[in-house]
Amino acid sequence: MDLRIEGGTVVSPQGSRRADVHIRDGRIAAITTSDSGEAERRVDADGLLVLPGFVDAHVHLMDPGDPEREDWEHGTAAAAAIGVTTVLEHTHGAPVLAADGLVAKREHVAARSRVDFGLGAHFFPESIDRVPTLWGEGAVFFKAFTCTTHGVPGLGEEELLRAFRAAAAVGAPVLVHCEDESTVDAAEQRLRAEGRADGELLPEWRNRTAERVATERVLRLAGVAGARVVVAHASHPEILAMIEDARRSGTRALGETCPQYLTLLESEVREHGPLRKFTPPARARTDAELEEMWDAVCTGTAVDYISSDHAPSTRAQKMEGDMWTCHFGLPGLDTTSGILIDAAVRGTIPFERLVKLYSEQPARIYGLGPRKGSLSPGSDADLVLVDPGGSWEVEPAAIRSKAGWSPYEGRMLKGRVVATYLRGREVFANDEVVGEPGGGRPIGGVPNVPGQDI
Ligand SMILES: [Zn+2]
Repeated sequence: MDLRIEGGTVVSPQGSRRADVHIRDGRIAAITTSDSGEAERRVDADGLLVLPGFVDAHVHLMDPGDPEREDWEHGTAAAAAIGVTTVLEHTHGAPVLAADGLVAKREHVAARSRVDFGLGAHFFPESIDRVPTLWGEGAVFFKAFTCTTHGVPGLGEEELLRAFRAAAAVGAPVLVHCEDESTVDAAEQRLRAEGRADGELLPEWRNRTAERVATERVLRLAGVAGARVVVAHASHPEILAMIEDARRSGTRALGETCPQYLTLLESEVREHGPLRKFTPPARARTDAELEEMWDAVCTGTAVDYISSDHAPSTRAQKMEGDMWTCHFGLPGLDTTSGILIDAAVRGTIPFERLVKLYSEQPARIYGLGPRKGSLSPGSDADLVLVDPGGSWEVEPAAIRSKAGWSPYEGRMLKGRVVATYLRGREVFANDEVVGEPGGGRPIGGVPNVPGQDI
């Protein structure tokens, strides 16, 4: 099957140009600037931007685990509708701790996902010795916690070092949640003793010191072990500066940030309570501090990629209990590309930078590029058509995640995804998700899957 997407502005990290994208058998066959013969199907992309499909490297689709909160049918419908063609997933409620668990989960997900997917494994104390088999079976990364959160045990210094060494031995990346357990525990005891249950306890409980102390430890141990470590959801410029410093001294440290740290203020938790409970929490106290984060995204060296950290609950689930007991996390898959595209249309971030941070780099870092996250001959024909003149309002009706709500409700976002292609097939078009559950394929070192020759 031949498809040609004609006359759009093709965007890559290196630049943008008006060109035709030729697709054959699900892959990009060529990108040309002059007419080059017939195609079975032609799509007019005049006036549209043609971007590589987005790769969201940090999502939690809760199935298996907690399918009342989210599942693959809903979560990957949200993905397709915003141009995400690959998700890298891990769920704390059903952690992957051994190779047989990874195989079982992959089968479960392959029947449900509408987009391509890779699966992460968890570092629990008992899974550290299983790195070679988990990695050999195709885990795309290992997730480690420095503090017990979402039921995942925090690893102490010795266990972290052992985990980093095991990952370094096979070349696997480690995604690390950095909050120091004893700092967080001490704050919790104090706040509980004071009888606090208000929204504003969150930034005191999950405080900056806790994030900084854990990040310092993780970077130091990564340096000792020679491990490739990604500091997950870096929340403010101080953390990014620590990553830059570590990198200058030779540590293989990478940084991830998320839209919530570029758009939400620390003070919002006062009014919204559980609906702003995520950790690390929003740190910015002023619009100027949000701008500082955008600057870091545009010109800094420590933001290697952007992810949504999609960790949804329904509004009702969020409002059960109180600030101490409700789930952490925000829905984000529905809105991450919208926030980034809006920023690009407004001139805050170049489109070339956007596709670097939300397509090319996450794919490359997790071993999926250039097959994923790139518009080059031979790559999978995963692409997004964006109308820079369009706009949309974030409202519950626009949310396809099971969460059904968004912290960005009421915002008007400029730019609009009009179509998403997965391996040359439309998965979103005319405001409708047309990709079916089971249409997505596993990717990431998976044995015996055709075309895993990355
Ligand atoms: Zn997460």
